[in-house]
Amino acid sequence: MINVFQPTLGAEELGAVAEVLDSAWLGKGPRVAEFERAFAEHLGVPADRVVTVNSCTEALFQAMELLGVGPGDEVVLPSISFVGAANAIAARGARPVFCDVDPRTLNPTADHVAAALGPRTRAVVILHYGGRPGSVLEIAELCRDRGVPLVEDAACSVASRAGDDPCGVIGDIGVWSFDSQKIVVTADGAMLSARDPELVAAARKHTYLGLERFSGYTSAKVADTRWWDIEVTSFSRRSIMNDLQAALGLVQLRRLGGFLERRAEIAAAYDRELAGLAGMQTPPPLPDGHTSSFYLYWVQVDEAVRDALARDLYADGVYTTFRYPALHLVKAYGSDARLPGAEAAAARTLCLPLHQGLSDGDVEVTIAAVRSSVRRRSGRLPPPPSATTA
Ligand SMILES: *Cc1c(COP(=O)(O)O)cnc(C)c1O
Repeated sequence: MINVFQPTLGAEELGAVAEVLDSAWLGKGPRVAEFERAFAEHLGVPADRVVTVNSCTEALFQAMELLGVGPGDEVVLPSISFVGAANAIAARGARPVFCDVDPRTLNPTADHVAAALGPRTRAVVILHYGGRPGSVLEIAELCRDRGVPLVEDAACSVASRAGDDPCGVIGDIGVWSFDSQKIVVTADGAMLSARDPELVAAARKHTYLGLERFSGYTSAKVADTRWWDIEVTSFSRRSIMNDLQAALGLVQLRRLGGFLERRAEIAAAYDRELAGLAGMQTPPPLPDGHTSSFYLYWVQVDEAVRDALARDLYADGVYTTFRYPALHLVKAYGSDARLPGAEAAAARTLCLPLHQGLSDGDVEVTIAAVRSSVRRRSGRLPPPPSATTA
């Protein structure tokens, strides 16, 4: 089976993990500190702007807490969002207000976000679909104008840029995932960044039981007479990353350039070989000045044939999926919105295998399987709606 996502892990990662095991310190320690420094450097921000977290879902929950989101508040997010983003809002007693997306890019435009803003809007949360920045600069400007903080769920966009601006540090808070299906992988793990270093300092405490001082691995213990004394600043959970995860992350971050090159190459092969196939659309071209992380590659077909395409590909040994199901249609969030762009996207989109471990042969098999299924299934369907480039 050709996987849709797959991490690339080898001898270097094994060596880094072995070193941690030998050190006899597995918890949050020197590797976590080093990984935070390396990631801040990767983003081009000062080291006090980032903090590790145990998952990106938890980082989204932390972000809502840091912004003081609470009962009676509304938080705007695209319907095509990760389920954890909506849960983070609803868990605070706030209401997730879903906005529409462009059906071709699955990213919201500033107009989509603006249409969902209201007097109770406490924050906006967007992601960069598939690693493409989308309208993040315009949305950030809109949020600044309205005085509403912007959270970027940069889980897909570890190396994405809108012009010179890295995704995740354009808004007020950014979060990245390093779970096992992402590009940089630590098994589980995440990073949170905030423009305001005080929010990052608060997140450091919130990820460790709300303790004023982190009493784990530290060389400053001798300065205190009783370093085991505690001071509680918030009733928080324990959501820290550990040195085993950070050791993986340090190696993966060094390898990221190579991963991105291969992912771009595969996306270009799909573009070249699948564009113009009757009954199917490939993603619109990336706008000038935008850099993608090539996290997802998607194709769009008539909704009457999308599921059959997935089944055909599965039968040919090619696993596919759709990210992210439209949340305004999920009963638990109690939305009565009608969002035609998100609904069309959710019905027509299929994500093809895209990871740096794919061989040229895997890519050829995938392309041949897509061509054969689409020709068979959608030969006589009407043409889909026209493309945009948001
Ligand atoms: C994977 C993902 C997350 C969640 O990350 P975890 O680290 O698994 O909690 C959040 N948002 C998006 C867009 C994702 O793809």
